[in-house]
Amino acid sequence: MAPPKVFKNFINGEWVDSVTGERFENRNPADRKELIGLFPKSGPEDVERAVASAKEAYKSWRLVPAPKRGEILFRAAQLLVERKEDYALDMTREMGKILTETRGDVQEAIDMTFYMAGEGRRQFGQTTPSELPNKFCMTVRSPIGVCSLITPWNFPMAIPSWKAMPALICGNTVVMKPATDTPLSMCHLVEVFEQAGIPPGVVNYVTGTGSGVGTPMMTHPEVRVVSFTGSTEVGRHVSKACAETFKHSCLEMGGKNVILVMEDANLDLAVDGALWGGFGTTGQRCTAASRVVVDKKVYQDFVSRFVARARTLKVGNGLDPSVQMGPLINESQLNSVEQYVEIGKQEGASLLTGGSRLSGGEYDCGWFYAPTIFGDCHPRMRIAQEEIFGPVVSVIPCDGLDEAIEIGNGVIYGLSSAIYTQDVNNAFKTMREMETGIVYVNASTIGAETHLPFGGTKQTGNGHREAATAALDFYSEWKSLYIDYSGKLQRAQIDT
Ligand code: NAD
Repeated sequence: MAPPKVFKNFINGEWVDSVTGERFENRNPADRKELIGLFPKSGPEDVERAVASAKEAYKSWRLVPAPKRGEILFRAAQLLVERKEDYALDMTREMGKILTETRGDVQEAIDMTFYMAGEGRRQFGQTTPSELPNKFCMTVRSPIGVCSLITPWNFPMAIPSWKAMPALICGNTVVMKPATDTPLSMCHLVEVFEQAGIPPGVVNYVTGTGSGVGTPMMTHPEVRVVSFTGSTEVGRHVSKACAETFKHSCLEMGGKNVILVMEDANLDLAVDGALWGGFGTTGQRCTAASRVVVDKKVYQDFVSRFVARARTLKVGNGLDPSVQMGPLINESQLNSVEQYVEIGKQEGASLLTGGSRLSGGEYDCGWFYAPTIFGDCHPRMRIAQEEIFGPVVSVIPCDGLDEAIEIGNGVIYGLSSAIYTQDVNNAFKTMREMETGIVYVNASTIGAETHLPFGGTKQTGNGHREAATAALDFYSEWKSLYIDYSGKLQRAQIDT
């Protein structure tokens, strides 16, 4: 048997082992027999080296003209285009989601990289009249310094690119950490940076656990910015750690997204939306539609169609093109789904389909669970309140739009929501009233585009947004410039 492939960290432009030489395994969640590779189990000393290299590189990278930084990103995007299929295949092997979805993940990285490459020529500031004669005022964006980018496993190339590209185009340097379940996809992104000509130290990549690598990345005194995507529980720690030294933090956390189905909805469309929103990526999207609130007048019709479609979904290894839903990412996620299904049953929800692990044949080699739907859910049930992050959807009956909106907003999260209706008044009211960062009309809760801001309200986020020009606002600081060409002492009305 061939020895397992051994991967390294990328620090100061070189591929290096961790200081201790310890490693962890990366295995295929659809087939645990497949060992994808061994990755460095790094610790604080590795983070120390990575931050030192990023700090040194920042001195020159911040002075590279932004359009030139953009050219490097543009080359990186072209390399991603060339390698899209290989990277998607590897991502399905390490993360489990089906190939059409991993192609989409790489495509999001491509879109973000091209988009931010273009922003190298568009980092506009403002010019504005001064209060005083012969004085000129303007604002410019300034980079901030070393950024720690801590990422989850569910979008293992897209999410790192949403963070790295805006950080780099603004002139910052980065230390990136993948989740331990998906280090290969970030490794591919780093290879692309290297081959696109990113200078040593500008991009650093360190693999390891949350406590071993994530914690020093967010507490290191030389780190100025922390961008975190992951659970609300860990995000709370990140927020507290950053507050201590006033680091800027962007937190993208959990969700309990909702689809509202009104009595006038196109039910075929609504069922499609609930199916792909609920079971796409095995329910492991931050934007997954894990609640569907349905008007009582169409409830039975909707539920019977939804359940019938869910039963036909083919579950298996995502490399098989006929498979529609892959495995869960790991055993602990599978156990958590099992526990929530038990909770749902105890709470009195009706289990309409699924509700068990899949076993036999290939299922015994991976973390497979059946698409699961609970009906007649009360909005306060735990299965309708807490993020499950698996293929479990709670359907909640309601009386009209006002109640649907109230139920939709009745959770601690606020990432994405959707309404299915033919009534323009319902649509506009929902867009205004939903307390989510993203609202869809006659489309499911998933499918963000890179040139629109992405992020959530309440306990999903802390007010920042990723993607679009909103990301530039997070990765740069405004500098206000006053140029007095009057040649004499002038004082504004109130000196500050
Ligand atoms: P997680 O919070 O367990 O881990 C996220 C990252 O944080 C990983 O790299 C992990 O190693 C690291 N980490 C863990 N403990 C840490 C600690 N104490 N200090 C520093 N870093 C630590 O999340 P996950 O299981 O990888 O991802 C699933 C979660 O991510 C879900 O809650 C999902 O909703 C959320 N998510 C949110 C968005 C969004 O944009 N809102 C997008 C994708 C995923």
